[in-house]
Amino acid sequence: MSTMNLVLMGLPGAGKGTQAQLIVKDFDIPHISTGDIFRAAIKNQTPMGVEAKKFIDKGELVPDEVTNGIVQERLAQNDTKDGFMLDGFPRNLVQADALNAMLVDSDRQLDAVINIHVRPEVLVERLSGRFICRNCGATYHRLYNPTKVEGTCDVCGGHDFYQRDDDKPETVKNRLDVNIKLNTPLIDFYKKQGVLYTIDGEQDIDKVYQAVKEVLTNL
Ligand code: ADP
Ligand code: AMP
Repeated sequence: MSTMNLVLMGLPGAGKGTQAQLIVKDFDIPHISTGDIFRAAIKNQTPMGVEAKKFIDKGELVPDEVTNGIVQERLAQNDTKDGFMLDGFPRNLVQADALNAMLVDSDRQLDAVINIHVRPEVLVERLSGRFICRNCGATYHRLYNPTKVEGTCDVCGGHDFYQRDDDKPETVKNRLDVNIKLNTPLIDFYKKQGVLYTIDGEQDIDKVYQAVKEVLTNL
């Protein structure tokens, strides 16, 4: 197939970003992470970033009007014409409806929603061990996915890493609670549309990717 319009779904820590990093190596589509867009806006202290930070720091969702607007703008850009991969959007039914409307308006449709399934009790450990390269954004885990050379990023060779503020224990619990509640209706929504592919996210990273790739190559 020529175009590939994807959504990566899964609770915080399920492995969306990790899989997205692998997908873009094999499939030439832009990776659109609303979380990354918000973090960049916070870093640049834009008005949107300042506003979004209030919600992100509490583990709450940023209001739908703001988030939908960002995605609408991004999907209007030319590089999404032959495909895109949304990561972390939609997160509720209002956003899912908004996405459908955006796609209908531009004569597009979703080809697959990849739902990476991990039990909530596994996620706390995933989030608390996550660390990120400050230079290129590559994601690692203290135990499950360390850098090959300690203190050096595999991707860019950088030496500066950080832990996300919202991965600290105070925020993790609320983030998980908020997202767990919204997850089931979203899964049902995409199941009904016939585009949902659920993948066991509790396997090794490369095994998860094999399963993802299998779905994508058979679309
Ligand atoms: P998300 O983008 O869904 O929030 P990430 O891709 O950032 O999740 O992964 C969360 C954490 O779990 C990271 O530290 C990552 O290295 C680790 N991780 C990702 N996939 C797996 C896996 N299959 N098994 C173990 N750890 C994983
Ligand atoms: P993530 O990087 O996907 O874990 O997102 C980090 C934070 O950004 C979330 O906890 C939310 O506060 C916010 N965020 C990301 N995506 C969305 C979305 N689709 N809707 C609302 N808030 C979002």
